[in-house]
Amino acid sequence: MSRLPGIDDLEVDGKRVLVRADLNVPLEAGAVVDDFRIRAALATIQVLRERGARVIVASHLGRPKGPDPELSLAPVAVRLQELGGFPVRLAGDVAGIEAKKTVAGMEPGEVVLLENTRFHPGETKNDPELAEALAALADAFVLDAFGSAHRAHASTVGVAELLPSAASPLVQAEVDALRRLLEERRSPYVVVLGGAKVSTKIGVIEALLPRVDAMLIGGAMAFTLLTADGYDVGSSRVEEQMLGEARGVLKGPHGARVMLPDDAVVADRFAADADHKVVPTGDMPEGWMGLDIGPEAAERFAGVIANAETLFWNGPMGVFEWEAFRTGTARIAEAVVECEGMTVVGGGDTAAALKLFGLEDRVTHLSTGGGAGLEFVEGKALPGIEVLERKSDGT
Ligand code: ADP
Ligand code: MG
Repeated sequence: MSRLPGIDDLEVDGKRVLVRADLNVPLEAGAVVDDFRIRAALATIQVLRERGARVIVASHLGRPKGPDPELSLAPVAVRLQELGGFPVRLAGDVAGIEAKKTVAGMEPGEVVLLENTRFHPGETKNDPELAEALAALADAFVLDAFGSAHRAHASTVGVAELLPSAASPLVQAEVDALRRLLEERRSPYVVVLGGAKVSTKIGVIEALLPRVDAMLIGGAMAFTLLTADGYDVGSSRVEEQMLGEARGVLKGPHGARVMLPDDAVVADRFAADADHKVVPTGDMPEGWMGLDIGPEAAERFAGVIANAETLFWNGPMGVFEWEAFRTGTARIAEAVVECEGMTVVGGGDTAAALKLFGLEDRVTHLSTGGGAGLEFVEGKALPGIEVLERKSDGT
C-alpha cells in the first residue's frame, strides 16, 4: 500500500494552498448552529498560515442544485474569522472571476474562503473545467475533508490530479486509525452496529462479518434482522425490501457471529414522552415499537465488548436523542470506553451520542468520516485518498 503524503511533503512557504475542508455545518436562520467542523478545519489552516502559505479554503454546504443564497458559506466565513482570530474573505463564486480576483490580492498568512463548491454544477460531476479553474487558483492542494473522500468530485479528486497534493493531519489520522482496523486487527474483533437503517449498512455487515469474531446489532436495524429471523416485532421500524438480504446474512456461513438483542424497550408511539416498557424480543406486543435495546441485551453486549482486542462501533442502539430510549446506547458507550483494546467509533450520530455522554476523548479514535469511514472499513478504495497515494508513487 502506498504512502499517504502529508503537509510536510509540500512546499507551502509563500505559496497559495487550496484546502478542501469539511465546513458542512448545520445552519438555522442564516447562523451556524454547531461549529465543531469549523474548529476541526482550523488546525490545518493554522499550520499552513504559520508556514507562510496563502490559504484558500473550499467546502460544500448542503446539497444545492446551483447558487442558493440560503446555502452561502457567508456565515461560515464569519465564524471561521471569529474562531481563528484572522481575517477571512469570502469569494463571490467557486472558481470564477470573483474567486480569481479575491485570491489575486492575497498576502501570506491570509485566508480566503471560496463559495459553496456545490453552487457549481461541475463539482459533483468532477468536471475537468472546474478542476482546472480550482487548480489555477493555487500552487498546492491539501485534502482535509475525510468525510468527502469517498466521492470523486472536482474539489476532492479533480483538483488533486492537477496540483502537488497531500492529506492534512486530520485525514492522515483517520486513515491510520481505520487502516489498523483492516490490517492490524487482533482477536477478539468485535463490531457493534446500530442506527436507523440496514440499507445504509448492509455493505459493512457483509464485508466485516467474515473477518470478525462477533457482530452485535442494535438500533432500528435489529428489528429488520429479527423479522428476517422469524420474530414478530410489532410496529418497530422494518425495512421490508431488506429482508432477503438480512436472511442471507443470518443464514450465511458466518450468520452465527451475529448477536441480536434478547430484549427491547418498546413504546406505544414514536415520541419522547411515549409510554414505554421492557419486553423480550420474542414477545413484542402488537402496536408497540422497539426504540432501544433492553437491559439484558445491553449487559450481554457489554460483556462481549469488554473482552475485545479490536472494536469498531457505528450506530446508536436506540433513539438516544430521547432520554427514555438512551439507556442502551449509554451502556454500550460505557463498555466501549472501558474496553482496553483498540476502539474505533464512527458515524455522525454515534459521535453525537458519545459527546452527549462526555466520553468522546476516551476511545482510541473517533472518526469524523460517516459514509467515507464505512466505505473504508468495507475495504473499498476512497477516490480522494487513492489519488493522493497514486501521485506520491509518481504513477
Ligand atoms: P450514525 O450517524 O452514527 O451512522 P445512523 O444515522 O445510522 O447512525 O442512525 C442514527 C439514528 O438512528 C438516530 O437518529 C436514532 O434515533 C435512530 N435510531 C436508533 N434506533 C432506532 C430505533 N429502534 N427506531 C428508530 N430509530 C432509531
Ligand atoms: Mg447518521
